[in-house]
Amino acid sequence: MIRTKIVATLGPACSDVETLVTLFESGVNVCRINFSHGTLDAALGLLRNVRIAAERFGQPVAVLGDLCGPKIRLHKVLDQGATGGMRVETGENLIIQRDPIDGQHGRVSTTYAQLIDDVKIGDRVLIEDGLIRFLVTDKSEHELTCKCTAGGILKSAKGINLPKTGVNLPSITDRDWECVDWACEHRLDYLALSFVRKAEDITTLREYLQDKVSDIHLIAKIEKAEGVQQIDSIIDACDGLMVARGDLGVEMDVAQVPIIQKDLVRRCRIAGKPVIVATQMLQSMIEQSSPTRAEVSDVANAIFDGTDAVMLSGETSVGKFPVGAVLTMAHVAQVTEEYLVTSEVDRAMEPKIRTTLAAGSLARGALRIVEDLDAKAVVIWTQTGGTARVFSKYHFPVPIIALSNDQRTLRRMALHYGVFPQHMPIVEDIGSVVAATEKLMIEKKYAELGQRVVIVAGWSPASAGSMNGLVIHTLGAPWTAVPTAQVMRQLLKAEKQ
Ligand code: PGA
Ligand code: MN
Repeated sequence: MIRTKIVATLGPACSDVETLVTLFESGVNVCRINFSHGTLDAALGLLRNVRIAAERFGQPVAVLGDLCGPKIRLHKVLDQGATGGMRVETGENLIIQRDPIDGQHGRVSTTYAQLIDDVKIGDRVLIEDGLIRFLVTDKSEHELTCKCTAGGILKSAKGINLPKTGVNLPSITDRDWECVDWACEHRLDYLALSFVRKAEDITTLREYLQDKVSDIHLIAKIEKAEGVQQIDSIIDACDGLMVARGDLGVEMDVAQVPIIQKDLVRRCRIAGKPVIVATQMLQSMIEQSSPTRAEVSDVANAIFDGTDAVMLSGETSVGKFPVGAVLTMAHVAQVTEEYLVTSEVDRAMEPKIRTTLAAGSLARGALRIVEDLDAKAVVIWTQTGGTARVFSKYHFPVPIIALSNDQRTLRRMALHYGVFPQHMPIVEDIGSVVAATEKLMIEKKYAELGQRVVIVAGWSPASAGSMNGLVIHTLGAPWTAVPTAQVMRQLLKAEKQ
């Protein structure tokens, strides 16, 4: 059982049901539908296949929709000289104009007309993940003059980053709102917002979702300096983070990326919220069947940092070896986790979770009990998944089996480190949870008769927010449920007499 969760970006290389089932069997827990590419009709095709494949796989798989946010792109660029685009040499000038045109002869336009107003002389304009770079040397009302500092071929629809510019684009575009509606209609589990700059970007989205009575959880993608600066309030506002290293490495000094990764992962652990480390983790596997040493190290180090999940982008969406990439990631995770558990390195990092909820104290207590009594699993009965989310951050040396009767909760919990969601019909009292746990543990071979497990549930498991009970149970030992109401009545009677 691998604790680290794997997010796979969907695309033509993995969208058929057969491949999806294989990806799930190989370790994928969450599928990312990237709204930057393709139509909503195409997204629906992907989603249908994911649902069929997940049904066949038999375990919960979450779906994360990824909103493009304020990403600026080049308009169409004509193919000049059979290069697939327009060549610009270092030292040459490029004009970016306000009005849309087909790019040619050193002149282009972008999807954001007001770019001309926002950019100042001296700002940098980076195209295609910073591969082709410009410095703005002059500007007039309708165009910018940009001197090329690193040449290349400009192609249609390539992304533009403006690291030094305060961009006035709305954080959620019209296209994003369409995707949000689609995500609600199709009951996605997570929605990620790109280029989050401030907490309000998330709260705006949340208020809209509340009006639609949608409980999709929101992931803030941190990929701009402004987002890094506002990180505490963003973490408070969101349900989880993505360290979006692709754009982050263009928007900021790339040498800052590992430091920011460690910092964000640590903050999420303290906040009790999930975090995904993303982009270029096994980049060379888009073309090659085995990873570089540096990539293996990168996956392992993200796990050392304490991330919940690692993400594959092009590796699974368009790569030649989508299954190989997932198997590689899962294998690295397994070996790294074995080391972490046996070396006790992880124990030294126990987080001081910033929560006044009972879940944090219960988790601390349960961890001590598991260690002292050599318990084989922690079993949580949860309706919203909140308790499992907090427990996950304590990196238990044993699996956290999270039981719920809510399919959505189960799918969502697929993102949490060390949490293994398992469907269980609603139970009325903690005694039934104990009985159900016993059956499940033996059936699934999580533990044997005579071994201990720690069970966490509310004394009335059917009502959310009543998480207050911790039971140490030896499998096979008799258990009598205490009818709490009856005991209370007797106590009250005794008091009166
Ligand atoms: P993207 O986000 O793949 O949607 O650009 C991830 C990143 O920028 O790292
Ligand atoms: Mn990005």
